[in-house]
Amino acid sequence: IVQVDNVSKRYLLGEQEVSALSDVSLAVEPGVFLAIAGPSGSGKSTLLNIIGCIDTPSSGRVLIDGRDVSGQTPDQLADLRARTIGFIFQSFNLLPVLSAEENVEYPLLQLRELDRAERRERVRHYLGMVGLAKYARHRPNQLSGGQRQRVAIARALATHSKVVLADEPTANLDRKTGESILKLMKDINRKSGTTFIFSTHDRRVMNMADRLVRIEDGQITALGMRAGDKWVFVQDRRPAGEDPEI
Ligand code: ATP
Ligand code: MG
Repeated sequence: IVQVDNVSKRYLLGEQEVSALSDVSLAVEPGVFLAIAGPSGSGKSTLLNIIGCIDTPSSGRVLIDGRDVSGQTPDQLADLRARTIGFIFQSFNLLPVLSAEENVEYPLLQLRELDRAERRERVRHYLGMVGLAKYARHRPNQLSGGQRQRVAIARALATHSKVVLADEPTANLDRKTGESILKLMKDINRKSGTTFIFSTHDRRVMNMADRLVRIEDGQITALGMRAGDKWVFVQDRRPAGEDPEI
């Protein structure tokens, strides 16, 4: 469902060039629950932003659902994003002046085949699914962090995205809330086959994944697959003696 081919990303900071990703390739099959792990500054957010078409690679290409992202017109790209990709940001990125239900409805306005009643029904369904039926009229500043995170999840799912990208979805939450958010994501993944790709520093969160990508210094250094309660690494460029877990 997502294919990343030889993607590099360089940022220019004044005179200096910063390499955020170098020659990253990755194929993600539909229905996968994939964690991206790696130290701070290793390129996790950059990779998620490029997959989510929020940022463009300096070289290489990204295919979403078989379509080369760089070959799309701005309109086609907006449509591809609205139909295929949901994004959950670390800071939630809810619109502060809109209520919970209006935030969830917002990306649905892009899907012209839905009329108002259908949009309302979707909003009701997904807010209910994340346990926020009673908070539909609340604005973000009237919700707790965990509740805001759940609004962001409902918003990412309501468009029936095939792929949901989440940048450190549990980083701002206490342990218990973080775990319940992850369980909710995993549940949706199992029931509807939605592909999830999320970055995290948290080992407990990693251990809920069925695929693991480790990034260091802008390069993929390990690719893990779950076998029971263990990880099997099919590609491992970590120095010998390094933590075998991740
Ligand atoms: P964290 O775990 O702290 O969120 P990360 O793995 O998500 O880190 P990125 O945000 O992808 O890391 O950053 C990768 C590298 O690219 C870092 O060295 C960062 O300083 C650099 N970088 C990211 N965005 C920009 C930008 N807009 N301009 C310049 N450099 C950037
Ligand atoms: Mg980041």
